[in-house]
Amino acid sequence: MATDAHGLSANYVAGQWVVPETGGRLAIEDPATGETLGAVPDSGRTDVDRAVAAARAAFPDWRRTPVAERARVFFRLKALLDEHHDDLAVRLSREHGKNVPETWGEVQRGIENVEHAAGMPTLMMGDTLEDIARGVDCETVRQPLGVFAVITPYNFPVMIPLWFWPYAVAAGNTVVLKPSEQDPLTHQRVVELAAQAGLPPGVLNVVHGRRETVEALIDHPDVSGVSFVGSSRVARIVYQRAGMAGKRVQALGGAKNHMIVLPDADPAMVADAVVASVFGSAGQRCLAGSVVVGVGDAYEPIREGILDGASSLKVGRGLEEGVDMGPVISGAHKDRVNAFIDEGERDGARLLMDGRRMEVPGYPRGHWVGPTVFEEVTPEMPIGREEVFGPVAGLTRAPTLEAALEMLAKSPYGNAASIFTRSGRAAREFRYRAGISMIGVNIGVAAPMAFFPFGGARNSFYGDLKAQGRDAVSFFTDQRVVISRW
Ligand code: NAD
Repeated sequence: MATDAHGLSANYVAGQWVVPETGGRLAIEDPATGETLGAVPDSGRTDVDRAVAAARAAFPDWRRTPVAERARVFFRLKALLDEHHDDLAVRLSREHGKNVPETWGEVQRGIENVEHAAGMPTLMMGDTLEDIARGVDCETVRQPLGVFAVITPYNFPVMIPLWFWPYAVAAGNTVVLKPSEQDPLTHQRVVELAAQAGLPPGVLNVVHGRRETVEALIDHPDVSGVSFVGSSRVARIVYQRAGMAGKRVQALGGAKNHMIVLPDADPAMVADAVVASVFGSAGQRCLAGSVVVGVGDAYEPIREGILDGASSLKVGRGLEEGVDMGPVISGAHKDRVNAFIDEGERDGARLLMDGRRMEVPGYPRGHWVGPTVFEEVTPEMPIGREEVFGPVAGLTRAPTLEAALEMLAKSPYGNAASIFTRSGRAAREFRYRAGISMIGVNIGVAAPMAFFPFGGARNSFYGDLKAQGRDAVSFFTDQRVVISRW
Protein backbone atom coordinates (compact mmCIF):
# COMPACT_ATOMS: atom_id res chain seq x y z
CA MET A 1 0.00 0.00 0.00
CA ALA A 2 1.14 3.51 -0.81
CA THR A 3 -0.16 4.81 2.53
CA ASP A 4 -0.18 3.16 5.94
CA ALA A 5 -2.91 3.41 8.57
CA HIS A 6 -1.47 6.71 9.79
CA GLY A 7 -1.61 8.30 6.35
CA LEU A 8 2.15 8.09 6.00
CA SER A 9 3.16 7.56 2.42
CA ALA A 10 6.27 5.76 1.45
CA ASN A 11 8.89 5.64 -1.25
CA TYR A 12 8.34 3.06 -3.96
CA VAL A 13 11.47 1.04 -4.54
CA ALA A 14 11.81 -2.24 -6.45
CA GLY A 15 8.05 -2.74 -6.38
CA GLN A 16 7.69 -2.22 -2.61
CA TRP A 17 6.41 0.74 -0.62
CA VAL A 18 9.16 1.42 1.89
CA VAL A 19 9.14 3.98 4.69
CA PRO A 20 12.67 5.22 5.38
CA GLU A 21 13.62 4.84 9.02
CA THR A 22 15.55 8.06 9.17
CA GLY A 23 14.80 11.54 7.94
CA GLY A 24 11.89 13.89 8.41
CA ARG A 25 8.33 13.84 7.17
CA LEU A 26 6.61 16.34 4.93
CA ALA A 27 2.92 16.91 5.69
CA ILE A 28 0.41 17.07 2.83
CA GLU A 29 -2.47 19.46 3.37
CA ASP A 30 -5.90 19.98 1.82
CA PRO A 31 -5.50 23.62 0.77
CA ALA A 32 -9.24 24.32 1.13
CA THR A 33 -9.70 22.97 4.66
CA GLY A 34 -6.19 23.04 6.11
CA GLU A 35 -6.70 19.38 7.08
CA THR A 36 -3.62 17.13 6.96
CA LEU A 37 -4.12 14.42 4.36
CA GLY A 38 -0.94 12.50 5.05
CA ALA A 39 2.82 12.82 5.04
CA VAL A 40 5.66 11.69 2.83
CA PRO A 41 9.30 10.94 3.67
CA ASP A 42 11.85 13.70 3.25
CA SER A 43 14.31 11.33 1.62
CA GLY A 44 18.06 11.67 1.85
CA ARG A 45 20.95 10.32 -0.22
CA THR A 46 20.70 6.78 1.13
CA ASP A 47 17.07 6.55 0.03
CA VAL A 48 17.98 7.93 -3.39
CA ASP A 49 20.82 5.41 -3.66
CA ARG A 50 18.37 2.56 -2.96
CA ALA A 51 15.91 3.75 -5.59
CA VAL A 52 18.59 4.29 -8.22
CA ALA A 53 20.09 0.87 -7.43
CA ALA A 54 16.65 -0.71 -7.94
CA ALA A 55 16.19 1.13 -11.24
CA ARG A 56 19.64 0.14 -12.39
CA ALA A 57 19.11 -3.50 -11.48
CA ALA A 58 15.80 -3.58 -13.39
CA PHE A 59 17.22 -2.00 -16.55
CA PRO A 60 18.90 -4.96 -18.35
CA ASP A 61 15.79 -7.20 -18.26
CA TRP A 62 13.41 -4.38 -19.05
CA ARG A 63 15.50 -3.28 -21.98
CA ARG A 64 15.42 -6.84 -23.37
CA THR A 65 11.64 -7.06 -22.96
CA PRO A 66 10.28 -6.76 -26.51
CA VAL A 67 9.00 -3.29 -27.21
CA ALA A 68 5.51 -4.57 -28.07
CA GLU A 69 5.34 -6.21 -24.64
CA ARG A 70 6.49 -2.99 -22.98
CA ALA A 71 3.84 -1.12 -24.93
CA ARG A 72 1.14 -3.55 -23.79
CA VAL A 73 1.73 -2.47 -20.17
CA PHE A 74 0.67 1.02 -21.27
CA PHE A 75 -2.46 -0.26 -23.04
CA ARG A 76 -3.44 -1.95 -19.76
CA LEU A 77 -2.52 1.15 -17.75
CA LYS A 78 -4.67 3.29 -20.04
CA ALA A 79 -7.65 1.00 -19.39
CA LEU A 80 -7.05 1.15 -15.63
CA LEU A 81 -6.72 4.93 -15.67
CA ASP A 82 -10.00 5.19 -17.59
CA GLU A 83 -11.64 2.94 -15.02
CA HIS A 84 -10.30 5.05 -12.12
CA HIS A 85 -10.63 8.41 -13.84
CA ASP A 86 -13.34 9.82 -11.54
CA ASP A 87 -11.66 8.59 -8.39
CA LEU A 88 -8.30 10.10 -9.41
CA ALA A 89 -10.01 13.42 -10.21
CA VAL A 90 -11.60 13.57 -6.75
CA ARG A 91 -8.38 12.65 -4.94
CA LEU A 92 -6.51 15.25 -6.95
CA SER A 93 -9.03 17.98 -6.21
CA ARG A 94 -8.73 17.31 -2.47
CA GLU A 95 -4.96 17.41 -2.55
CA HIS A 96 -4.41 20.26 -5.00
CA GLY A 97 -7.54 22.41 -4.55
CA LYS A 98 -8.65 22.95 -8.16
CA ASN A 99 -12.19 21.99 -9.10
CA VAL A 100 -13.15 18.51 -10.27
CA PRO A 101 -13.77 19.43 -13.94
CA GLU A 102 -10.20 20.77 -13.98
CA THR A 103 -8.72 17.72 -12.27
CA TRP A 104 -10.74 15.43 -14.56
CA GLY A 105 -9.26 17.27 -17.53
CA GLU A 106 -5.78 16.94 -16.04
CA VAL A 107 -6.16 13.17 -15.66
CA GLN A 108 -7.40 13.04 -19.26
CA ARG A 109 -4.30 14.88 -20.50
CA GLY A 110 -2.17 12.44 -18.54
CA ILE A 111 -3.96 9.45 -20.07
CA GLU A 112 -3.29 10.86 -23.54
CA ASN A 113 0.44 10.66 -22.84
CA VAL A 114 0.05 7.03 -21.78
CA GLU A 115 -1.81 6.37 -25.05
CA HIS A 116 0.91 8.06 -27.03
CA ALA A 117 3.71 6.20 -25.24
CA ALA A 118 1.91 2.93 -26.08
CA GLY A 119 2.85 3.67 -29.69
CA MET A 120 6.54 3.16 -28.86
CA PRO A 121 7.05 0.27 -31.33
CA THR A 122 6.58 2.72 -34.19
CA LEU A 123 7.79 5.84 -32.36
CA MET A 124 11.27 4.46 -31.74
CA MET A 125 11.89 2.92 -35.15
CA GLY A 126 15.15 3.86 -36.80
CA ASP A 127 16.08 4.73 -40.39
CA THR A 128 17.97 2.74 -43.01
CA LEU A 129 19.67 3.79 -46.21
CA GLU A 130 21.28 1.43 -48.69
CA ASP A 131 24.39 2.26 -50.69
CA ILE A 132 25.67 5.26 -48.81
CA ALA A 133 28.83 4.16 -50.61
CA ARG A 134 29.26 1.22 -53.02
CA GLY A 135 28.01 -1.86 -51.15
CA VAL A 136 27.79 0.04 -47.86
CA ASP A 137 24.55 0.48 -45.91
CA CYS A 138 23.72 2.73 -43.00
CA GLU A 139 21.06 2.35 -40.33
CA THR A 140 20.09 3.99 -37.07
CA VAL A 141 18.65 2.21 -34.06
CA ARG A 142 17.24 3.98 -31.04
CA GLN A 143 18.43 2.52 -27.76
CA PRO A 144 17.44 3.33 -24.17
CA LEU A 145 20.12 4.84 -21.94
CA GLY A 146 19.48 3.44 -18.46
CA VAL A 147 18.08 5.28 -15.45
CA PHE A 148 16.29 8.63 -15.78
CA ALA A 149 15.31 10.97 -12.95
CA VAL A 150 11.99 12.80 -13.32
CA ILE A 151 11.36 15.79 -11.01
CA THR A 152 7.97 17.47 -11.11
CA PRO A 153 6.05 20.49 -9.71
CA TYR A 154 2.87 20.76 -7.69
CA ASN A 155 0.50 22.31 -10.21
CA PHE A 156 -0.26 19.25 -12.39
CA PRO A 157 0.83 16.39 -10.13
CA VAL A 158 -0.89 13.65 -12.13
CA MET A 159 -0.25 14.89 -15.66
CA ILE A 160 3.31 16.23 -15.56
CA PRO A 161 4.99 13.01 -14.38
CA LEU A 162 3.11 11.36 -17.28
CA TRP A 163 4.77 13.76 -19.73
CA PHE A 164 7.95 11.81 -19.02
CA TRP A 165 8.00 8.45 -17.34
CA PRO A 166 5.72 6.54 -19.77
CA TYR A 167 7.95 7.54 -22.71
CA ALA A 168 11.14 6.77 -20.80
CA VAL A 169 9.85 3.39 -19.67
CA ALA A 170 8.17 2.38 -22.94
CA ALA A 171 11.49 3.11 -24.66
CA GLY A 172 13.20 0.60 -22.34
CA ASN A 173 14.66 2.84 -19.64
CA THR A 174 13.93 2.72 -15.93
CA VAL A 175 12.92 5.73 -13.85
CA VAL A 176 13.14 7.33 -10.42
CA LEU A 177 10.36 9.89 -9.99
CA LYS A 178 10.61 12.68 -7.40
CA PRO A 179 7.13 14.23 -7.33
CA SER A 180 6.27 17.56 -5.74
CA GLU A 181 6.32 17.35 -1.97
CA GLN A 182 3.16 19.48 -1.82
CA ASP A 183 0.70 17.07 -3.49
CA PRO A 184 2.32 13.71 -4.29
CA LEU A 185 -0.46 11.38 -3.11
CA THR A 186 -2.65 11.01 -6.21
CA HIS A 187 0.26 10.04 -8.43
CA GLN A 188 1.02 7.26 -5.95
CA ARG A 189 -2.29 5.77 -7.00
CA VAL A 190 -1.15 6.01 -10.63
CA VAL A 191 2.03 4.16 -9.67
CA GLU A 192 -0.05 1.41 -8.01
CA LEU A 193 -2.13 1.13 -11.18
CA ALA A 194 1.03 0.87 -13.26
CA ALA A 195 2.14 -2.07 -11.11
CA GLN A 196 -1.30 -3.62 -11.57
CA ALA A 197 -0.90 -3.14 -15.32
CA GLY A 198 2.18 -5.33 -15.18
CA LEU A 199 5.11 -2.94 -14.84
CA PRO A 200 7.86 -5.09 -13.28
CA PRO A 201 9.44 -4.11 -9.94
CA GLY A 202 12.23 -1.53 -10.20
CA VAL A 203 11.19 -0.15 -13.60
CA LEU A 204 9.43 2.82 -12.00
CA ASN A 205 10.49 3.98 -8.53
CA VAL A 206 9.38 6.96 -6.44
CA VAL A 207 11.40 8.91 -3.88
CA HIS A 208 9.73 11.74 -2.01
CA GLY A 209 11.57 14.76 -0.76
CA ARG A 210 12.84 18.21 -1.61
CA ARG A 211 16.02 19.93 -2.66
CA GLU A 212 18.46 17.46 -1.09
CA THR A 213 16.63 14.54 -2.71
CA VAL A 214 16.78 16.23 -6.12
CA GLU A 215 20.47 17.02 -5.74
CA ALA A 216 21.23 13.42 -4.79
CA LEU A 217 19.39 12.22 -7.88
CA ILE A 218 21.14 14.63 -10.23
CA ASP A 219 24.57 13.82 -8.78
CA HIS A 220 24.09 10.05 -8.83
CA PRO A 221 26.57 8.49 -11.27
CA ASP A 222 24.02 5.86 -12.35
CA VAL A 223 21.45 8.43 -13.46
CA SER A 224 21.81 9.05 -17.22
CA GLY A 225 19.42 11.94 -17.65
CA VAL A 226 17.12 14.35 -15.86
CA SER A 227 13.67 15.66 -16.78
CA PHE A 228 12.58 18.60 -14.66
CA VAL A 229 9.55 20.89 -14.48
CA GLY A 230 9.22 23.72 -11.96
CA SER A 231 10.08 27.35 -11.42
CA SER A 232 12.69 28.99 -13.65
CA ARG A 233 15.02 29.56 -10.71
CA VAL A 234 15.18 25.86 -9.90
CA ALA A 235 15.05 24.80 -13.58
CA ARG A 236 18.23 26.75 -14.20
CA ILE A 237 19.99 25.25 -11.18
CA VAL A 238 18.96 21.73 -12.23
CA TYR A 239 20.04 22.35 -15.83
CA GLN A 240 23.45 23.60 -14.77
CA ARG A 241 24.04 20.90 -12.18
CA ALA A 242 22.98 18.07 -14.48
CA GLY A 243 24.93 19.60 -17.38
CA MET A 244 28.07 19.86 -15.26
CA ALA A 245 27.67 16.17 -14.44
CA GLY A 246 27.58 15.44 -18.19
CA LYS A 247 23.95 14.32 -18.26
CA ARG A 248 21.08 14.79 -20.63
CA VAL A 249 18.72 17.34 -19.20
CA GLN A 250 15.47 19.02 -20.13
CA ALA A 251 14.34 21.66 -17.61
CA LEU A 252 11.01 23.40 -18.05
CA GLY A 253 10.60 26.60 -16.04
CA GLY A 254 8.11 29.33 -15.20
CA ALA A 255 6.11 31.73 -17.34
CA LYS A 256 4.57 35.15 -17.79
CA ASN A 257 2.10 34.74 -20.61
CA HIS A 258 0.79 37.66 -22.66
CA MET A 259 -2.57 37.81 -24.40
CA ILE A 260 -2.72 40.39 -27.17
CA VAL A 261 -6.14 41.55 -28.31
CA LEU A 262 -6.61 43.39 -31.61
CA PRO A 263 -9.59 45.69 -32.20
CA ASP A 264 -11.14 43.31 -34.75
CA ALA A 265 -11.50 40.47 -32.20
CA ASP A 266 -14.89 39.54 -30.77
CA PRO A 267 -14.80 41.11 -27.27
CA ALA A 268 -17.20 38.61 -25.67
CA MET A 269 -15.17 35.64 -26.92
CA VAL A 270 -11.95 37.31 -25.75
CA ALA A 271 -13.31 38.06 -22.27
CA ASP A 272 -14.39 34.42 -21.81
CA ALA A 273 -11.02 33.13 -23.03
CA VAL A 274 -9.05 35.56 -20.84
CA VAL A 275 -11.07 34.84 -17.69
CA ALA A 276 -10.73 31.07 -18.17
CA SER A 277 -7.00 31.41 -18.88
CA VAL A 278 -6.07 33.79 -16.04
CA PHE A 279 -8.30 32.45 -13.27
CA GLY A 280 -8.56 28.72 -14.12
CA SER A 281 -6.76 26.61 -11.47
CA ALA A 282 -6.46 29.88 -9.52
CA GLY A 283 -3.78 30.98 -11.98
CA GLN A 284 -1.48 28.10 -11.08
CA ARG A 285 -0.79 26.95 -14.63
CA CYS A 286 2.34 27.57 -16.65
CA LEU A 287 0.02 28.41 -19.57
CA ALA A 288 -2.15 30.84 -17.58
CA GLY A 289 -2.64 34.24 -19.18
CA SER A 290 -1.13 36.96 -17.04
CA VAL A 291 -0.72 40.21 -19.01
CA VAL A 292 -3.61 41.26 -21.28
CA VAL A 293 -2.63 43.80 -23.89
CA GLY A 294 -5.55 45.65 -25.51
CA VAL A 295 -4.45 47.16 -28.81
CA GLY A 296 -6.11 50.50 -29.64
CA ASP A 297 -9.90 50.39 -29.35
CA ALA A 298 -9.85 46.79 -28.18
CA TYR A 299 -9.04 47.90 -24.64
CA GLU A 300 -12.29 49.30 -23.21
CA PRO A 301 -14.68 46.49 -24.21
CA ILE A 302 -12.36 43.71 -23.06
CA ARG A 303 -11.66 45.53 -19.77
CA GLU A 304 -15.38 45.55 -19.02
CA GLY A 305 -15.84 41.95 -20.16
CA ILE A 306 -12.94 40.70 -18.01
CA LEU A 307 -14.21 42.57 -14.92
CA ASP A 308 -17.71 41.14 -15.43
CA GLY A 309 -16.39 37.63 -15.93
CA ALA A 310 -13.98 37.80 -12.97
CA SER A 311 -16.64 39.11 -10.59
CA SER A 312 -19.01 36.27 -11.47
CA LEU A 313 -16.52 33.51 -10.56
CA LYS A 314 -17.45 31.35 -7.60
CA VAL A 315 -14.47 30.74 -5.33
CA GLY A 316 -14.64 27.72 -3.04
CA ARG A 317 -13.63 24.16 -2.36
CA GLY A 318 -12.90 22.42 -5.64
CA LEU A 319 -14.81 19.32 -4.58
CA GLU A 320 -18.09 21.28 -4.41
CA GLU A 321 -20.38 21.56 -7.39
CA GLY A 322 -20.41 24.88 -9.23
CA VAL A 323 -17.07 26.14 -7.90
CA ASP A 324 -15.01 27.94 -10.56
CA MET A 325 -11.85 28.63 -8.62
CA GLY A 326 -10.28 26.77 -5.70
CA PRO A 327 -7.62 27.89 -3.22
CA VAL A 328 -3.94 28.34 -3.95
CA ILE A 329 -1.70 25.50 -2.84
CA SER A 330 -0.41 26.75 0.54
CA GLY A 331 -0.35 29.57 3.07
CA ALA A 332 3.16 30.45 1.93
CA HIS A 333 2.03 30.69 -1.69
CA LYS A 334 -0.97 32.83 -0.72
CA ASP A 335 1.42 35.23 1.06
CA ARG A 336 3.61 35.34 -2.03
CA VAL A 337 0.71 36.15 -4.36
CA ASN A 338 -0.58 38.81 -1.95
CA ALA A 339 2.90 40.35 -1.73
CA PHE A 340 2.90 40.71 -5.54
CA ILE A 341 -0.47 42.49 -5.34
CA ASP A 342 0.85 44.83 -2.59
CA GLU A 343 3.87 45.59 -4.73
CA GLY A 344 1.78 46.22 -7.84
CA GLU A 345 -0.24 48.80 -5.92
CA ARG A 346 2.91 50.47 -4.61
CA ASP A 347 4.34 50.59 -8.14
CA GLY A 348 1.31 52.53 -9.36
CA ALA A 349 -0.68 49.86 -11.21
CA ARG A 350 -4.41 50.53 -10.71
CA LEU A 351 -6.15 47.82 -8.72
CA LEU A 352 -9.63 47.31 -10.20
CA MET A 353 -10.48 44.12 -8.31
CA ASP A 354 -8.72 42.99 -5.15
CA GLY A 355 -8.70 39.33 -4.11
CA ARG A 356 -6.47 39.72 -1.06
CA ARG A 357 -9.14 39.54 1.60
CA MET A 358 -11.09 36.70 0.07
CA GLU A 359 -13.02 34.54 2.52
CA VAL A 360 -15.04 31.41 1.81
CA PRO A 361 -17.77 30.66 4.40
CA GLY A 362 -17.16 27.36 6.17
CA TYR A 363 -13.47 27.25 5.20
CA PRO A 364 -11.60 29.61 7.52
CA ARG A 365 -8.29 27.76 7.03
CA GLY A 366 -8.37 27.69 3.22
CA HIS A 367 -5.69 29.53 1.24
CA TRP A 368 -8.01 31.85 -0.64
CA VAL A 369 -7.03 34.53 -3.09
CA GLY A 370 -9.93 36.00 -5.05
CA PRO A 371 -9.80 37.13 -8.69
CA THR A 372 -7.61 40.21 -8.90
CA VAL A 373 -7.41 42.67 -11.79
CA PHE A 374 -4.89 45.47 -12.30
CA GLU A 375 -4.67 47.98 -15.10
CA GLU A 376 -1.86 50.28 -16.22
CA VAL A 377 0.62 47.49 -15.68
CA THR A 378 4.03 48.02 -17.33
CA PRO A 379 6.76 45.53 -18.30
CA GLU A 380 9.08 47.22 -15.78
CA MET A 381 6.86 46.41 -12.76
CA PRO A 382 7.30 43.02 -11.06
CA ILE A 383 3.52 42.51 -11.44
CA GLY A 384 3.98 42.94 -15.20
CA ARG A 385 7.22 41.00 -15.51
CA GLU A 386 7.52 38.28 -12.84
CA GLU A 387 5.57 35.06 -12.60
CA VAL A 388 2.87 35.50 -9.91
CA PHE A 389 1.30 32.04 -10.31
CA GLY A 390 -1.99 33.22 -8.83
CA PRO A 391 -5.36 34.57 -10.00
CA VAL A 392 -4.10 37.99 -11.04
CA ALA A 393 -4.69 39.73 -14.39
CA GLY A 394 -2.57 42.71 -15.44
CA LEU A 395 -4.24 44.80 -18.14
CA THR A 396 -2.38 47.23 -20.29
CA ARG A 397 -2.77 49.13 -23.57
CA ALA A 398 -0.66 49.29 -26.71
CA PRO A 399 -1.28 51.61 -29.66
CA THR A 400 -0.40 49.01 -32.33
CA LEU A 401 0.46 45.32 -32.78
CA GLU A 402 4.05 46.48 -33.29
CA ALA A 403 4.06 48.12 -29.83
CA ALA A 404 2.47 45.00 -28.29
CA LEU A 405 5.21 42.83 -29.85
CA GLU A 406 7.85 45.17 -28.41
CA MET A 407 6.28 44.71 -24.98
CA LEU A 408 6.37 40.95 -25.44
CA ALA A 409 10.02 41.09 -26.49
CA LYS A 410 10.89 42.58 -23.06
CA SER A 411 9.54 39.58 -21.19
CA PRO A 412 12.22 37.35 -19.70
CA TYR A 413 9.89 34.40 -20.22
CA GLY A 414 8.85 32.67 -23.45
CA ASN A 415 6.41 29.94 -22.51
CA ALA A 416 3.10 30.88 -24.14
CA ALA A 417 1.35 33.86 -25.75
CA SER A 418 -1.97 34.35 -27.50
CA ILE A 419 -3.34 36.73 -30.07
CA PHE A 420 -7.03 37.44 -30.59
CA THR A 421 -7.89 38.74 -34.03
CA ARG A 422 -9.87 38.06 -37.21
CA SER A 423 -6.84 38.92 -39.33
CA GLY A 424 -4.81 36.01 -40.70
CA ARG A 425 -2.06 38.39 -41.58
CA ALA A 426 -1.79 39.78 -38.05
CA ALA A 427 -1.86 36.25 -36.63
CA ARG A 428 0.93 35.19 -38.98
CA GLU A 429 3.03 38.22 -38.07
CA PHE A 430 2.54 37.38 -34.41
CA ARG A 431 3.53 33.75 -34.87
CA TYR A 432 6.55 34.77 -36.92
CA ARG A 433 7.90 37.36 -34.52
CA ALA A 434 6.69 36.56 -30.99
CA GLY A 435 9.70 34.38 -30.13
CA ILE A 436 7.43 32.34 -27.86
CA SER A 437 7.12 28.56 -27.96
CA MET A 438 3.42 27.84 -27.38
CA ILE A 439 1.25 30.19 -29.39
CA GLY A 440 -2.53 30.60 -29.25
CA VAL A 441 -4.50 32.16 -32.07
CA ASN A 442 -7.95 32.93 -30.63
CA ILE A 443 -7.11 30.35 -27.93
CA GLY A 444 -6.59 31.31 -24.30
CA VAL A 445 -4.62 28.28 -23.11
CA ALA A 446 -2.36 27.03 -25.90
CA ALA A 447 -1.73 23.55 -24.49
CA PRO A 448 -0.02 21.14 -26.91
CA MET A 449 -1.50 17.64 -26.81
CA ALA A 450 0.59 14.56 -26.13
CA PHE A 451 1.82 14.14 -29.72
CA PHE A 452 3.28 17.68 -29.80
CA PRO A 453 6.22 19.11 -27.88
CA PHE A 454 5.48 21.00 -24.66
CA GLY A 455 7.97 23.57 -23.42
CA GLY A 456 8.99 27.20 -23.70
CA ALA A 457 11.74 29.57 -24.77
CA ARG A 458 13.97 32.13 -22.99
CA ASN A 459 13.92 31.59 -19.19
CA SER A 460 10.95 29.25 -19.47
CA PHE A 461 13.05 26.39 -20.78
CA TYR A 462 16.60 25.11 -20.48
CA GLY A 463 17.59 22.40 -22.89
CA ASP A 464 16.59 21.55 -26.44
CA LEU A 465 14.34 18.49 -26.46
CA LYS A 466 10.98 19.26 -24.89
CA ALA A 467 8.34 17.20 -23.08
CA GLN A 468 5.89 14.92 -24.95
CA GLY A 469 5.76 14.27 -28.69
CA ARG A 470 8.72 13.09 -30.76
CA ASP A 471 11.05 15.08 -28.53
CA ALA A 472 10.27 12.73 -25.66
CA VAL A 473 11.32 9.74 -27.76
CA SER A 474 14.55 11.49 -28.76
CA PHE A 475 15.30 12.55 -25.20
CA PHE A 476 14.91 9.07 -23.77
CA THR A 477 16.85 7.22 -26.49
CA ASP A 478 20.20 7.52 -28.19
CA GLN A 479 20.49 7.03 -31.94
CA ARG A 480 23.19 4.51 -32.71
CA VAL A 481 24.38 4.59 -36.29
CA VAL A 482 25.54 1.33 -37.88
CA ILE A 483 27.49 1.39 -41.14
CA SER A 484 28.00 -2.03 -42.74
CA ARG A 485 29.82 -3.64 -45.63
CA TRP A 486 29.44 -7.38 -46.27
P1 NAD B 1 9.44 24.46 -7.75
O1 NAD B 1 10.50 24.92 -8.66
O2 NAD B 1 9.33 25.06 -6.40
O3 NAD B 1 9.55 22.87 -7.50
C1 NAD B 1 9.64 21.96 -8.57
C2 NAD B 1 10.38 20.71 -8.10
O4 NAD B 1 11.72 21.05 -7.75
C3 NAD B 1 9.75 20.07 -6.86
O5 NAD B 1 9.77 18.68 -7.02
C4 NAD B 1 10.66 20.54 -5.74
O6 NAD B 1 10.72 19.63 -4.66
C5 NAD B 1 12.01 20.67 -6.40
N1 NAD B 1 12.87 21.73 -5.85
C6 NAD B 1 12.47 22.87 -5.22
N2 NAD B 1 13.54 23.63 -4.92
C7 NAD B 1 14.64 22.98 -5.36
C8 NAD B 1 16.05 23.26 -5.35
N3 NAD B 1 16.52 24.37 -4.82
N4 NAD B 1 16.87 22.36 -5.92
C9 NAD B 1 16.39 21.23 -6.48
N5 NAD B 1 15.08 20.91 -6.51
C10 NAD B 1 14.20 21.77 -5.96
O7 NAD B 1 8.05 24.61 -8.56
P2 NAD B 1 6.56 24.44 -8.02
O8 NAD B 1 6.23 25.59 -7.14
O9 NAD B 1 6.34 23.06 -7.51
O10 NAD B 1 5.75 24.55 -9.40
C11 NAD B 1 5.34 25.74 -9.98
C12 NAD B 1 6.32 26.20 -11.04
O11 NAD B 1 6.42 25.23 -12.07
C13 NAD B 1 5.88 27.48 -11.73
O12 NAD B 1 7.00 28.31 -11.90
C14 NAD B 1 5.35 27.00 -13.07
O13 NAD B 1 5.36 27.95 -14.11
C15 NAD B 1 6.28 25.87 -13.34
N6 NAD B 1 5.70 24.96 -14.32
C16 NAD B 1 6.20 25.00 -15.59
C17 NAD B 1 5.65 24.19 -16.57
C18 NAD B 1 6.17 24.22 -17.97
O14 NAD B 1 5.67 23.47 -18.80
N7 NAD B 1 7.14 25.06 -18.28
C19 NAD B 1 4.59 23.33 -16.24
C20 NAD B 1 4.12 23.32 -14.94
C21 NAD B 1 4.69 24.15 -13.98
